[in-house]
Amino acid sequence: MKLNSKTNNWINWSGSVKCNPREILMPESQQEIISIIQNCMVQKSSIRVVGSGHSFTELVVTSGTLVSLDLLKGITSDIKADNVATVFAGTKLQWLGKKLLELNLAQENLGDIDVQSLAGAISTGTHGTGIKLGSVSTQIKEITLLTANADVIVCSESINSDIFKAAQISLGTLGIITEIKLQLLPAYKLKYVKGKTTLDECLYNIENYKTENRNFEFYWFPNTNIVQTKSMNITDEKIMKRSFFKYFNDIILENVVFKLLSELCRIFPFLCKAVSKISAAAISTGVDINFSAKIYATPRFVKFQEMEYSFPANNVVAILNEIRECINTSYFNVHFPIEVRFVKADNIYLSPAFQRESVYIAIHMYKGMEYKKYFEAIENIFKKYDGRPHWGKIHTRTAKDFSQLYPMWNKFQDIRMQLDPEGLFMNDYLKKIMIQ
Ligand SMILES: Cc1cc2nc3c(=O)[nH]c(=O)nc-3n(C[C@H](O)[C@H](O)[C@H](O)COP(=O)(O)OP(=O)(O)OC[C@H]3O[C@@H](n4cnc5c(N)ncnc54)[C@H](O)[C@@H]3O)c2cc1C
Repeated sequence: MKLNSKTNNWINWSGSVKCNPREILMPESQQEIISIIQNCMVQKSSIRVVGSGHSFTELVVTSGTLVSLDLLKGITSDIKADNVATVFAGTKLQWLGKKLLELNLAQENLGDIDVQSLAGAISTGTHGTGIKLGSVSTQIKEITLLTANADVIVCSESINSDIFKAAQISLGTLGIITEIKLQLLPAYKLKYVKGKTTLDECLYNIENYKTENRNFEFYWFPNTNIVQTKSMNITDEKIMKRSFFKYFNDIILENVVFKLLSELCRIFPFLCKAVSKISAAAISTGVDINFSAKIYATPRFVKFQEMEYSFPANNVVAILNEIRECINTSYFNVHFPIEVRFVKADNIYLSPAFQRESVYIAIHMYKGMEYKKYFEAIENIFKKYDGRPHWGKIHTRTAKDFSQLYPMWNKFQDIRMQLDPEGLFMNDYLKKIMIQ
């Protein structure tokens, strides 16, 4: 087992969450994790597990033991004929994507970055876009979980099925996930088309956009009527070479130039409106064709705070119109685009897409800029539409709200109490969102 001894300070990706754990441990085997759990149980010291630290909320904060599974990574066994692979929980999605491609396999869908750990991604319900595609958690066939009693529980749709539905999205409250069996697809290529249109046109034709493309999302630039559309569909066409144009767009425009403009907005917030208009005017259109793992994710060098909620998909037009009205009348200094994605309904107890075909709407604010008033105003709209917040992103909701938003809330809490009666895996933030 390695001790991360350089420093005991921990900080998340956005820099908004910090903690000083008593120790940061990096076990290399299931047996070492069992020893950690047993020691913490004896010492009555809490444990939190961290993936890549890309959540915006205080999920992994602890003054006790912080466990990183960075050394527990890779694919554990031969791939089965039905394209099911067992993956160690600490495996990073980017590594997994490359390895799977070598094996001529791929994940069904992914979000817009790939630096998360597999267990971290599934534990907060990380999703991509596509109305016929579920979140990453829906790709799971089986989970191996170490609980507070140091029991090893294997769960799936057929074994311990209630625990499985709870563990597919559990915020690390049921124990430490060590292995995940994933249902994969044969490797596939995606044709990725970036377009530009107006918000009005996009909302008018949203049913077509979302049903006629395998993956569809759009970004609306506040204080303009402009959106960038992104659609992806499976293709047999030849891979397109990485052109200078694409490099210029992904790295220079979307990161370097956007970072400079964002810094301008941080120093002179009144420039936000103009910067949003400049960014909208500079939207590029284009096509890219490549294997899926090389298409889904893009580099993100510009740091921000984010709030994202999920809603019944047919509310998308009404919600976007209310957000537009709110931004137009409240004069918020915001230049980051608003992201809109679609996700298939599922049956996972704590999934924001639980039993409803969903639209996810995300708002962002550049790191270092005041975001609370803007997020509060938009969250008030989100609340009106039965919004369920993304578990890894900023929100102000508590256990009382969740007990009304999630039909299987009590069932999840019963399972959590059964597996961790003494709250070994809890922290103050989790108490607020889990316990009424
Ligand atoms: C730039 C950026 C882009 C993003 N894009 C998307 C996106 O496209 N779609 C989307 O849905 N989300 C997105 N997110 C959110 C992100 O995917 C989630 O917050 C995700 O949980 C982060 O994964 P992580 O490995 O960093 O986990 P962490 O943030 O480190 O941990 C998340 C949770 O997982 C738990 N956990 C981690 N490992 C284990 C384990 N082995 N056993 C039990 N519990 C564990 C932790 O305790 C914690 O509760 C984005 C975030 C950022 C910063």
